[in-house]
Amino acid sequence: MLDRLLILWHFAATRWFPAPGLRTRARRLHRFLARVRRESPFYQRIDGEPPILTKCEFLEHFTELNRHGFTLAEATEVALRAERERDFRPELPGGVTVGLSSGTSGTRHVFLVGRSERCRWAGQMLGHTLAPASLRQILNPFAPPLRLAFFLRASSNLYTTLASRRVAFDYYDLTRPFGDLMRALAAAPPDVLIAPATVLAEIARARPAISPRQILSVAEVLDSRDRALVENVFNVPVAEVYQATEGFLGCTCPAGRMHLNEETLHIEPLWIDDEHERFHPVITDFSRSTQWFVRHRLNDVLRYDPTPCPCGRRTKTLLAIEGRAEEVLWLPDDRGEPAAVFPDTVRQAIYSLASPPDRYRVEQHAMRWEVRMSGGDEGEVRKSFAGLADRLGLVRPEVVFLPWTEQPASEKQKRIRCLAKPE
Ligand SMILES: [Zn+2]
Repeated sequence: MLDRLLILWHFAATRWFPAPGLRTRARRLHRFLARVRRESPFYQRIDGEPPILTKCEFLEHFTELNRHGFTLAEATEVALRAERERDFRPELPGGVTVGLSSGTSGTRHVFLVGRSERCRWAGQMLGHTLAPASLRQILNPFAPPLRLAFFLRASSNLYTTLASRRVAFDYYDLTRPFGDLMRALAAAPPDVLIAPATVLAEIARARPAISPRQILSVAEVLDSRDRALVENVFNVPVAEVYQATEGFLGCTCPAGRMHLNEETLHIEPLWIDDEHERFHPVITDFSRSTQWFVRHRLNDVLRYDPTPCPCGRRTKTLLAIEGRAEEVLWLPDDRGEPAAVFPDTVRQAIYSLASPPDRYRVEQHAMRWEVRMSGGDEGEVRKSFAGLADRLGLVRPEVVFLPWTEQPASEKQKRIRCLAKPE
């Protein structure tokens, strides 16, 4: 009950209160930093401005950077067990949810979310993305509950927080065969369809008999080809949610522009070019207190849009998120038709190993998957890929290991890519 009220509060605040101005935000940031200094042993040692942290540095100091002093090993244990058993309910003491993300920077990332943060996330997410018609459906007790379909590699208490009597939440596990998922989807047509960009495109190609009112693309960059395909098939515009372990970073507004979520984040741009157009964001999230995210450097490349948005929301907008390009691999099904293996599941097959490689690249040349890695165990990787293909009901690829080489910096850094689809 308390959770519901909290969600409702954050929903209303997000939806109907104007975003705080610069001065209010600066005051909140100042208060947040003062609190972090009092509570975190890591920041007590630091005089002056807090340093910019990379993901690796954050994980190194994991224990000192969460309120409960959980170790990385404890948190990883709970997260990996959930992945293996596909039961995502277990929590650490104090109602803390553990999430595992393979991230885009190449390192496995474990993150902690408290109960009230979960409610805030749900309220903000709905507040920013829910169409007026969807909101009316939730509020009308005579209408069926609003049905959300979530396609993800792993569920989480974070997402199921959204479920209630007026909101039905269906989780579709991407490690299951895609055909089964499409049958289940047609049997329970959603009002709101939520999936990673590449998965949305595959759903559109499968043309299930559904007519969602809203479609949200999450976790990956939505390229223009996929967007056109999805919008064509379902005849609704696709909204994008930009999210990372660092939090809920942004989403598109009714005018179709990507806003950074500066209501709860302080975002410093690390400019990459002299024209001040492209930057890596450095994130401080002053809404979170289970883990302290202070000046986190993300590897994503964002393109800044300096013009004000016609929707009236006063936060920074982006022309594009450029750095998260993903590639889909393909394997034949039992009729010899190529079926998609989404990059997120490939990354997960690697990151959930007992001894994952430090770095790796997977390149597909028809049925041959060339793997280059530094560290890690070849036998384990081979077994994990075979298991992934089996779970998806697809033909196993021929996995070949090649010596690790650095990718030239001038090239686009891609860890997973398909150079030739199997025929
Ligand atoms: Zn806008």
